[in-house]
Amino acid sequence: MKYRKEVLIIGISTLVLSSLGISLILKKDQDIEKTGFITFWFDDGMQTTFDIAYPLLRRNDWPAVVAMIGDRSSAIEKYEGVDGVMSWEEASILQDKDGWEISNHSLTHSHLNEITDQGILEKEISKPLEIFKAKDLDVQSFTFPYGEQGRLPGQEIVKKGHPYWRSSIPGVNSVPAWKHLTAYFFNNDTTEEELEAWIMEAEEGGWLILGLHSTLRKPVTEWEHTPKQLRKLIKRIRESKLEVVIPSYMYDTYGYAEDNVPPQ
Ligand SMILES: [Zn+2]
Repeated sequence: MKYRKEVLIIGISTLVLSSLGISLILKKDQDIEKTGFITFWFDDGMQTTFDIAYPLLRRNDWPAVVAMIGDRSSAIEKYEGVDGVMSWEEASILQDKDGWEISNHSLTHSHLNEITDQGILEKEISKPLEIFKAKDLDVQSFTFPYGEQGRLPGQEIVKKGHPYWRSSIPGVNSVPAWKHLTAYFFNNDTTEEELEAWIMEAEEGGWLILGLHSTLRKPVTEWEHTPKQLRKLIKRIRESKLEVVIPSYMYDTYGYAEDNVPPQ
C-alpha cells in the first residue's frame, strides 16, 4: 500500500511540475506586449486544414478562418490529386468547438470576373449562403476565388449578403479596417524576409491576414505549404507582437474604417 501511495505522490508531483512548466512557457509568450493583429485564413476547405493545421493552431488556442466552397463535389473535383476536402461536419467542429469563422468561397470556385450573366453570378455568390444556413454555419464574409474581385456587379452582390469580404490584394489592413480585407499569402516559396516584413508592418498597429491553402508534406503547386513551414510560422507568430484574432472580433471591437478603402 505504502509503495502505491509513494508512486501516486511522485506521479502527482510530476504532473504538477509538468503543468507548471507548461504554464511558465505559455506565460512567457503571453508576456509579450501585443501591438498588432494576425488572422490565419485558409482557403478552399481542404482536408489537411482540418487534419494538420487545425490541431497545430488548437494547441495555442488560436481560431482561424476557413473559406468553404458551397458545392463540395466541385471542390472534390477541383482538388483531386492535391488534397481532399473537409466535410460539413468537420467545418461545424471548427466553428462550434473552437470558434473558427466559416467564409463563403463561392458555389463552384469559378472565375467571377468572367461571368457576364447576372443570374449565374448571383447564384455563385448567394446560393452558398443557403447551404451554409442549412448546415448551421454562421457565415459573414466572402472570399473571392482566384484573387478576382468579381468586377462591379460581383462586388455589389457580395456587399448585399456579407458584412465584409477578402480579396487577394496584397497588404496589411488598418485598424479599424474597411470591409474589403486585403491579405498576403503564405506559400511554400514565401521567404523569411517577406514574412518578417509583413509581421513588422502589422506590429506597427496593423492587422495582417495570412491566406493559406493545403498543408502538404510534398506540395503539388506553389500555393501549398509543408507542415514544417506551418510549425515554424506558428512559432514565429507566438514570439511576435501580434495577437491572433478572427475578423468578427476585429469588427466587434474596432468597427469599420469607412474612409479606408483599399485600391481596386
Ligand atoms: Zn480558392
